Amino acid sequence: MRREDLAALYHLPITDLVQRAQTVHRQHHTPDAVQLCTLLSIKTGACPEDCAYCPQSSQHATDVEAERLLDVEAVLAQAQRAKAGGATRFCMGAAWRTPARGPAFQRVLAMIRGVRALDLEACVTLGMLNDQEVEELKAAGLSAYNHNLDTSENFYNEIITTRTYRDRLETLRRVGASGISVCSGGIVGMGESDDDRIDLIFTLATLDPQPESVPINALVAVEGTPLANQPPVDPLVLVRMCALARLALPKARVRLSAGREVLSREAQVLCFMAGANSLFFGDQLLTTPNPDRNKDLALLRDAGMRALDSDGHAQALPPLAKERALPLWQQGPA
Ligand code: SF4
Repeated sequence: MRREDLAALYHLPITDLVQRAQTVHRQHHTPDAVQLCTLLSIKTGACPEDCAYCPQSSQHATDVEAERLLDVEAVLAQAQRAKAGGATRFCMGAAWRTPARGPAFQRVLAMIRGVRALDLEACVTLGMLNDQEVEELKAAGLSAYNHNLDTSENFYNEIITTRTYRDRLETLRRVGASGISVCSGGIVGMGESDDDRIDLIFTLATLDPQPESVPINALVAVEGTPLANQPPVDPLVLVRMCALARLALPKARVRLSAGREVLSREAQVLCFMAGANSLFFGDQLLTTPNPDRNKDLALLRDAGMRALDSDGHAQALPPLAKERALPLWQQGPA
């Protein structure tokens, strides 16, 4: 798809855009099913990078307390809990510019092997990778590697100065060439223009192979970061981004990620209509809050959705942890 075609789609009336995205979605995916993923921070804070949105950067004064790399056992206990709760993919994030070498990296490999042994998909995000690291991650059985492009190449320098867009693309190229699935997406609400958003989706779509999953995040403006005062993004922008990702990357899982806590149930359902078919599930997303698991399950149930198993088949949703006292639509935003 050409860049100008994507731009024309982005600016369609939203009813037309969603209808087109839904048509493509139905050609490639089960329309009433979503993938449930859980994300755990395995090494928190003290990151040398300066990503303006991120409370884990050592260059911003935020409340995030740095934590060392977790033990394998602690991570696998969380993975087991995620699996019991219905997740099929377990994602682990470490606040590193590049992975620590030596025992720390070996520990991450042991986490990956352990998560795979639980019959969960394993995804990690560890920063920029060299060829050897990619090889070792692949040998450990890693299912997917997350490395977000975040925004357009043009806007990138406004958000991050400690690495380049080219660095980012290079890691994505290495991962893609290895056969590990690529997970890459971006963030809206950082002050970028519509053109930046279109450029981001266009760049993701031109990766070869295309990403297997595309997280679409809304900025969570955290105090102490340079973006703390950004106004909340219009939920319709997220709907447009989900639709555009669906149209440009028809086979990818489009994942509604950070920022979902402030979206209404209706806005989330509109994102599903637009082609989103994956969610982060669990109360915390690295260091920012995420909707309660029961609220998510109740939303999916009330919308008549099912969950995808690891083979991509639609199954009944996992049970709610406890009875809810009020109908969900009376409990405020998800
Ligand atoms: S987004 Fe990742 S690389 Fe950037 S500061 Fe945060 S932890 Fe570091």
